Amino acid sequence: MDNYIEIWSIVKRALEEKYSEEIMNLWFNKLKLVYLDDKYAFFTVSSADYLISILNSKYSEVLESIFSEKIGLDVRVRVYKTELYSEEKAIAEFKEIEEKKEKSSAEINTYNNFTEEYTFDNFVVGGSNNFAYNASLAVANNPAAEYNPLLIYGDSGLGKTHLMKAIISKIRREKPHLNVLFITGENFTNEFLDALAKKETSAFKEKYRNIDMLMIDDIQFIAGREATQEEFFHTFNTLYELKKQIVLTSDRPPKDMKNLEERIKSRFEGGLIADIQPPDTELRIAILKSKCNTMNIKLSNDVLVYIAENVKTNIRQIEGALKKLGAYSFVNNVEIDVDKAKKLLEEFVSSSMSPEQTAEKIIDAVSVKYGIKKEEIKGKSRSKEIAWARHVSIYLIRNITDLSLQTIGKIFGRDHSTVLASIEVVNKEIMENPVSDNDVKELMREFK
Ligand code: ADP
Ligand code: MG
Repeated sequence: MDNYIEIWSIVKRALEEKYSEEIMNLWFNKLKLVYLDDKYAFFTVSSADYLISILNSKYSEVLESIFSEKIGLDVRVRVYKTELYSEEKAIAEFKEIEEKKEKSSAEINTYNNFTEEYTFDNFVVGGSNNFAYNASLAVANNPAAEYNPLLIYGDSGLGKTHLMKAIISKIRREKPHLNVLFITGENFTNEFLDALAKKETSAFKEKYRNIDMLMIDDIQFIAGREATQEEFFHTFNTLYELKKQIVLTSDRPPKDMKNLEERIKSRFEGGLIADIQPPDTELRIAILKSKCNTMNIKLSNDVLVYIAENVKTNIRQIEGALKKLGAYSFVNNVEIDVDKAKKLLEEFVSSSMSPEQTAEKIIDAVSVKYGIKKEEIKGKSRSKEIAWARHVSIYLIRNITDLSLQTIGKIFGRDHSTVLASIEVVNKEIMENPVSDNDVKELMREFK
């Protein structure tokens, strides 16, 4: 046991170099290392379930790499709720997970992770999403009957993936004999290009054409990639002719998918297209109440109304806001009132931000997206990646805030002509390269 304390303090020191005190308090300081061998490291903590699940999904890899770097142990890390921990069970569970992983493909694992989370039951229905909800439910009840293909489109964070996973979850429960394949447009593309490079396209084709249901999340990703589109088109036709259900999501309607072949668009239009719109205040409140229930967070009605009236654009943000309040109230053991919520949620309430603050947030987002440090983006380096991140930051700031060219230049220690040049570079790149276009749009959406 003493050893554990020693080891944990080494790991913790490495964490402290990486994270602020606030993050340490929120996530790591309460952890207790309770088991360690050459394969596993188990921690316990007496936290709410959703906090533990964030620790496991977000931070376990960080912990694993520190164990490897500082202690020389390549262990798998997992955090358990103190009250529920049993060493035997934990080891057994881990073994089972690893065995399953070996057997099944990446998509199926993703599925294992989300079955509990995304269901029709926990999808809150209102005017802006009830069409997509009902269409999804109909497909889950009667695959390949009326609505084929089903395409759900809408802005980011409005529930497209949730509905898709709800369909899968219902089918797994009620029609387990059906072979459902879920994949993101991005992974579909990568997998295909990989197969192409390795000359294994026949295995790829076989995999995708011997299923009962194909679900591709964020299909807009394949637009502009010729070979992938071609392959998708054939897969689509084969499955369609075999009367297999196809479900797709996209962040925009087919008519706005630039670079998507017409014949694919018209295939989409031959099925059912259901949109999801941003939720109105009433639906936002209903969603908040439902999430508070599942996350076991208690907030007064005033605070809920404050969130609903101020965090508007997307449900992912609403969840983020709730998690933040929940974490704060848990760690500090206090109730949250409206004033406190206002302070804590500043980052979510964009209208209360000055344009300069927004500019900083934009650079933060670009930094995360491209994995390039903020100082580098603002710095002088001309390396291709860094310069691109800088151009994108400038382009976004110009489009999102009303800051002048001069002021934007100042943020980057440059003059207004450099700012214009950056904007030009990005304009040209997004016209020519759909991947960059997609990247920039995604970033843009975070701030609109
Ligand atoms: P999208 O795929 O459209 O970007 P997601 O499906 O990932 O969005 O939804 C973002 C988050 O919001 C998810 O955690 C999801 O569970 C939640 N969410 C979205 N719509 C609803 C809803 N109507 N009821 C409950 N949760 C929702
Ligand atoms: Mg999604």
